[in-house]
Amino acid sequence: MLLGAQVRMSGGLAAALDRGTAMGADAIQLFTQNARAWRATNHDPEVLKAFRGRQAHSPTVRATYCHATYLINLASPAAEVYERSRACLASNLAVASAIGSAGLVLHVGSHLGEGLAASLSRIVEALAASLEASGGACPILLENTAGAGGSIGRSFDELAAVISAAGGDRRLGICLDTQHLWAAGASYATLEEADALVSELDACVGLDRLACLHLNDSKVGRGAARDRHENLGAGTIGGQALGHLLGHPRLQHLPAILEVPGEEGHGPGPRDLAAARAIHAAGLARWRRG
Ligand SMILES: [Zn+2]
Repeated sequence: MLLGAQVRMSGGLAAALDRGTAMGADAIQLFTQNARAWRATNHDPEVLKAFRGRQAHSPTVRATYCHATYLINLASPAAEVYERSRACLASNLAVASAIGSAGLVLHVGSHLGEGLAASLSRIVEALAASLEASGGACPILLENTAGAGGSIGRSFDELAAVISAAGGDRRLGICLDTQHLWAAGASYATLEEADALVSELDACVGLDRLACLHLNDSKVGRGAARDRHENLGAGTIGGQALGHLLGHPRLQHLPAILEVPGEEGHGPGPRDLAAARAIHAAGLARWRRG
């Protein structure tokens, strides 16, 4: 399992990659533009091209994931928000493809009370358009959500519904966030529960779609339906339960990426990676004991 971390973008793409290498991350995740603004960053095409070579020479980083802009709502019934979301997704995916990213993680959005069924055609049209425009080299990874409001992806069934409406497009995958799972009510406090969860995902979506984990503890209790990440071992999930998922025999080929606040609130650092490695090792040992 590759253990990685979200990295800050100050100084640009190359600086972000160097930050991941410096903390010893096996994988990184970055935003290709400001996470909370529509405006696309004007990356120098040479910098985008050079990124692949720079990553190939990193002694630690084996894969780069991108996270899409938070404002994107592919389910929005408001025409202006929807059009902006489509354009924003397309530019996120273009940059992700250009740097050789292993996947663009996306929160699909919220149907704002209209229901998932009513928004499916809008969602799949936008996904297909950006995949076509980018050439499809970088997959879009739909992330599960904590389940607030009308957010889409609170259950494996909702993620499966989007993929199925998209005709099972092979360029669509899944990213599972441990905190969102917990906040949406799923439990993996025991090995049996963790195993049942993996089997449920396999039955609903197919494990072959699962491309990435987001590894976070939770500031809020199970079922609280809020997206609030905490440092590993300091939240309501705890290291032992996280180990049940991280050590699961069927998930060992995946990267797990930290999106925790870190010691000083600036994001994950070496200490968080060390905690992740310890939890992974303990989880593997737990599964071996059975
Ligand atoms: Zn996440």
